[in-house]
Amino acid sequence: MLNDTNETTDASNTTFSPVPAPLEEAVPPALLHRSLRQAPYLVKSAKGLAITLSDGRTVLDACGGAAVACLGHGNEEVLRAVTAQMSSGVSYLHSLTYTTSAAEELAHALVDGPHGGSRFGLERAYLVNSGSEAMDAALKLARQCFFELDGPGTTRSHFVARRQAYHGTTVGAMNVSSNLPRKIPYANLQLPNVSWVTPAYQYQYSNWRQGETEGEFAARLVEELDAHFRSLGPDKVVAFIAEPLVGATSGCTPAPKGYFAGVRRVCDEHGVLLILDEVMCGMGRTGTQFAFEQEEGRVVPDIMTMGKGLGGGFAPVAGMLVHKKVLDVLRKGTSSFNHGHTYQAHPVGCASTLAVQRIIARDGVIENCARMGKVLRSLLGDTLGPRKYVGDIRGRGLFWGIEFVRDKTTRDPFPPGVAFGPRFQQMAFDLGVAVYPGSGTVDGTKGDHAIISPPYNVTEDELREIVRIVHEAYERLEKEVD
Ligand code: PLP
Repeated sequence: MLNDTNETTDASNTTFSPVPAPLEEAVPPALLHRSLRQAPYLVKSAKGLAITLSDGRTVLDACGGAAVACLGHGNEEVLRAVTAQMSSGVSYLHSLTYTTSAAEELAHALVDGPHGGSRFGLERAYLVNSGSEAMDAALKLARQCFFELDGPGTTRSHFVARRQAYHGTTVGAMNVSSNLPRKIPYANLQLPNVSWVTPAYQYQYSNWRQGETEGEFAARLVEELDAHFRSLGPDKVVAFIAEPLVGATSGCTPAPKGYFAGVRRVCDEHGVLLILDEVMCGMGRTGTQFAFEQEEGRVVPDIMTMGKGLGGGFAPVAGMLVHKKVLDVLRKGTSSFNHGHTYQAHPVGCASTLAVQRIIARDGVIENCARMGKVLRSLLGDTLGPRKYVGDIRGRGLFWGIEFVRDKTTRDPFPPGVAFGPRFQQMAFDLGVAVYPGSGTVDGTKGDHAIISPPYNVTEDELREIVRIVHEAYERLEKEVD
């Protein structure tokens, strides 16, 4: 039984929801876990895809945690890079006074490397420790941009994001997110200068209009955004925020063709900055360095956030890439970004991440990601595609979402009480594969999905084993639900 904890099982609740045995009362934990009643599984070791639990069981990590572990677990080269950085004695320095070659070289790799941002005018990298911090930095930088352009009296203070969006847990990132379960206790922290439009998630029952083509859906959303900007009034909006492929809240959903080209055009017409949140879908995960590269038309963000796959989970690292257009505003203005963290561009995190980025470039793992993505897509399509509760399988690269519905014709989701998503995750976990959950109510809508996002260097044999087990988990659950 899964839901005996009364925990919310919303898509954006990134709690690892397979529920291990209740905490040993004799040894209460000192660590404040998400749940006060149950601790997550204790892990003994990890290598490649395999995570070994303290009870001796081994689980294949088919989701990289939350699409984080892009090279798998336990990498010797990264270990050496971290050890060398720490051996130099430079584990921490304050970024206001000092910089390190690890940080500078990493920024160069991200900007000027073969897959770097400068191909798109993204000329500077800003490095922090979490995707939420990166989002906060992006929101503040965008606002500062207009402060510099128009002066302190700038009328631009409004942000527009999309419903069913998750951009992080800090107050800034939470403000532009719209996943209600995570916001319930914090209504007083919600700023009034944020509003939301329809997400580019055509499959889902609450957005779907029968008979509407992909092109018509894209056009409808772009018109809605334009009308929304107009309704807010001229020169009011700082930025529009969106994930190119939506991760946690809708399971690897790409936007319809032409949507982002339309969004870019409308933002330009209204003088609004475009912030693309690639914390989950970026840095190679979709088979290209940046997810936005695969959009129709030349869609380039003014600010792009990154995290998760950037450092592959070996150290906490995230950040943003900033377009020349924004940098030029700063250059002509105060010449500084009025923001900073004690641990920004942390030397050990940067050394670790630089090693990851070098391995990715040297070993062509993004190309492998694109290639293996096609294998994964056909394996999932062949096995799960025809099943009666599998409504949609979508994604790019090694970022795949499976959406479960009660009725494939109407796209009606299961009632939350069925807990199809969490039960599927638990079943897969018990059989030896970890998938990423996404279920429950988001923004008042219901739904269940699971994410499969293995490392970029996964092999075909490993994918076959993952899909075999995932399929078996589904079959067992289908029998239980019927
Ligand atoms: N943005 C997106 C799209 C995410 O998926 C997440 C985390 O899941 C974040 C931002 C926040 O990142 P973090 O959890 O590292 O703060």
